[in-house]
Amino acid sequence: MPKTIAAISTPQAAGGIGIVRISGPEARAIAGRVFTSARGKTLEQCRGYTALYGRVHDAEGEIDEAIALNFIAPASFTGEDVVELSCHGGIYVMRRVLQAVFAAGAAPAGPGEFTRRAFLNGKIGLTEAESVMQIISAQGLEAGKAAMAGRDGALERRIIQIREGLTTIAAHLDAWADYPDEDIPEVDGSGLQESLEHAAQELDRLLSQFEAGRVLREGVETVIAGRPNVGKSTLMNLLSGCERSIVTEYAGTTRDVVEETVLLGGIPLHLADTAGIRATEDPVERIGVDRARERVQAAQLVLAVFDSSQALNEEDRLLIESVQDTPAVAVVNKSDLENVIDLEYIKNHFKQIVYISALSGDGLEALEQAVASLLKTNELDPSSGILFTERQRDAARRARDCVQEALDAQRSGVTLDAVTVSVEGAVSALLELTGERATEAVVDQVFAQFCVGK
Ligand code: GDP
Ligand code: ZN
Repeated sequence: MPKTIAAISTPQAAGGIGIVRISGPEARAIAGRVFTSARGKTLEQCRGYTALYGRVHDAEGEIDEAIALNFIAPASFTGEDVVELSCHGGIYVMRRVLQAVFAAGAAPAGPGEFTRRAFLNGKIGLTEAESVMQIISAQGLEAGKAAMAGRDGALERRIIQIREGLTTIAAHLDAWADYPDEDIPEVDGSGLQESLEHAAQELDRLLSQFEAGRVLREGVETVIAGRPNVGKSTLMNLLSGCERSIVTEYAGTTRDVVEETVLLGGIPLHLADTAGIRATEDPVERIGVDRARERVQAAQLVLAVFDSSQALNEEDRLLIESVQDTPAVAVVNKSDLENVIDLEYIKNHFKQIVYISALSGDGLEALEQAVASLLKTNELDPSSGILFTERQRDAARRARDCVQEALDAQRSGVTLDAVTVSVEGAVSALLELTGERATEAVVDQVFAQFCVGK
């Protein structure tokens, strides 16, 4: 019989409400030892989902008021009997309630152990469990949507569809291998190849969306670069919707890097407003300039800002050169002023160009679209299911490699046995992805990334 476990499931900080969750066969008995309902009804008497109001106490006396939420197996998150004690969220109260629950017979829950039990009890699939973690850490709306879709099994359904295609192929190949002389129709080479190619395409699409999904979840290190006075600070303020950097009329005042995270069309941008890149004699400015160049080259996204009301100068060209190997959007600013900049030159050096007025906000939508298109997040349909952990991507990659082997074997006309082995390899990688055939080590690895209480 599994142990009954307990942990604080809310953040370890002062909050309005804090929850101690207890899960396992003894959940109600243990909770009953520390909780007394105001109306005298006991948890043991609860036959279904119930909420009781009362007090939590330990050997020292009363700790706090509490609501005991009672879930009867299997109708709970973990699939076991669960009691959640909601108290006031102070750190002291929470720890004391938890200690009382331990004293009453519960064992401390390990990292991710509640979710792990939900997985082991068949309440959720492995990819769904992983998306629980993504929901907890989602930074923006788009990432949140993607995580919720994963929680609803979108990825799992997509994987199962690919896998079923492969299983059908394997079944045909098997039948053929087992009864070569009987009435099984000849293996249709072109049909086989078509099915394999279809699986390969589906896996390729899934894999190519991984990076874009990561961008939505984790955001990108973004540098706003450009020579003094082109409008970097103004753009930064526009993006963050509030005054942040010091905007000034004088060239060269933004010496250092300012960091903050903003959401642009759902993508978290970790922004740095840097100094321009230019030759300078001033030692203090020099440090800022060097740092700016390093950051530009290390950035995952550069917003290279130009002033449309001025001709390109040496410093602009230095910036253009230094971003050639970095995903960059040319932001041609001050579109409200007379246009004198050499647009052709910029067009020849950037895939994405937008014209904006950082001052008025005109063109912000175009910037959103340019960034989404550069980072390929516009190609994502989160509701269709995306890969969102390295583990999932590794498994999908292995499946893709196996499908390639099968295709190669089929084309080169070696025995169909070789094709079968590769197709089965792909199926088994996909079973591992969904957790239907994951080793204990894989499952351990997934839940080790959770924290205690999840
Ligand atoms: P930075 O040195 O690149 O950070 O430039 P700032 O953001 O400090 O802007 C320099 C000057 O350009 C300020 O006076 C801004 O008000 C002005 N500026 C910024 N964006 C625009 C714009 O879109 N149109 C106009 N007309 N002026 C702008
Ligand atoms: Zn500035």
